[in-house]
Amino acid sequence: MGELAERDKAVIWHPFTQMQTAPLPIPIVRGQGTLLFSADGTTYIDAVSSWWVNTHGHSHPYIAEKVAKQLHTLEHVIFAGFTHQPAVQLAERLLPILPDHQKKVFYSDNGSTAVEVALKMAFQYWHNVGKPRRKVIALEDAYHGDTFGAMAVSGRSAFTAPYVPFLFDVEYIPTPVPGQEQAALDQMQALLSDDVAAFIFEPLIQGAGGMVMYRPEILSQLIEMARSHGALIIADEVMTGFGRTGKLFASHHLSHQPDLMSLSKGLTGGTMALGVTTCTNAIYDAFKSEDKYKTLFHGHSFTANPLACTAALASLDLLLSDETQASIQRISQRHVVFAEQLGHKPGVKNVRQRGTILAFDLDTDGQTSSYFSNIRDIAYQFLLEQGVLMRPLGNVLYILPPYCITDEELTTVYSAIDKLLHYITQNDPSLRDSSPN
Ligand SMILES: *Cc1c(COP(=O)(O)O)cnc(C)c1O
Repeated sequence: MGELAERDKAVIWHPFTQMQTAPLPIPIVRGQGTLLFSADGTTYIDAVSSWWVNTHGHSHPYIAEKVAKQLHTLEHVIFAGFTHQPAVQLAERLLPILPDHQKKVFYSDNGSTAVEVALKMAFQYWHNVGKPRRKVIALEDAYHGDTFGAMAVSGRSAFTAPYVPFLFDVEYIPTPVPGQEQAALDQMQALLSDDVAAFIFEPLIQGAGGMVMYRPEILSQLIEMARSHGALIIADEVMTGFGRTGKLFASHHLSHQPDLMSLSKGLTGGTMALGVTTCTNAIYDAFKSEDKYKTLFHGHSFTANPLACTAALASLDLLLSDETQASIQRISQRHVVFAEQLGHKPGVKNVRQRGTILAFDLDTDGQTSSYFSNIRDIAYQFLLEQGVLMRPLGNVLYILPPYCITDEELTTVYSAIDKLLHYITQNDPSLRDSSPN
């Protein structure tokens, strides 16, 4: 194990990793169900679905079989001027389960590109109809990806600081969490004008921003306001899609639906990289013309890769099965019970839960929300030692498990958290006396 990690260190630069101080990476040799097996024989429960992508457990035999078969039939084909069964079938199966009015599928290969495409569709829509609009309204603390357009519409933070001079301007409204709802409505009202091209958001849960949760009713209200000024509505469901929030899509909790949607992560069950942007016919129609310059000039080499589309089709079969739907409800119900217990523990605040996602803040007394604070590294290592992979976002701990997680495994994750809380309160003088809230 040591050997592979050393070889890695010699040649590889890891994502979101300070290479000077990060511990050596853990070589993983196999995955099965919720479990990851390391080279030294340790097993880890993947309680974050490997960065929110893995919905049905690792190396799922059903997905593997379908992809293997496709691999021997057609591994890839250029998607301009050509098409294939998996791409068509996936679009035909996706559109009916999405919110109303989503009528066309545009493929790309990850979440950031799915967002880029949505933004380009929105800007070019206004260009094509001859009424160019420039403004985008986004939520503070949003995360929409790491490419430039996606970064531009994300909140400004330490992650985007070096690039700020290169990002286009975006108008922000406060994330409408309880306590900020009126401020969000007021700010939206103040920003709305005939120059607003789009309103983009992560519906109900901001993921990378710290699993920040807000009510569907307030988002529906904001959508209604933005739409009344003609703004196109973009739901970035890259993280919230495919059952995470208890419904197939977070937008299903809303009374007002988006015009554009970005999907990725859970789309292939975590097997292959694939992104999807969907839109209404009204948007699509603004690109149809005898005029070549109204074309959407965008496409990636691996657009609609047949293996990725096949993985997505297999993942959909699993997702829509009674067994998986029951699992999503089972996980949600167990989270509710654990959330209730957590609420009474010292050192814990702001417990929140929706569907299969449970999150809370470690009350770090004064040093909250800094991604770089020690508590994050302490918690990460401690949980790994308990055999549980979680990746705290600063002082925010969250569980976002594959839907196949067993009751026993969930219990292990919960009790690892209990042990962590006990450990922290024993070791941190600032927490020792804090009262439950
Ligand atoms: C992860 C994420 C993205 C970016 O997806 P990548 O595949 O990592 O590029 C975009 N939006 C949201 C809401 C995400 O959680």
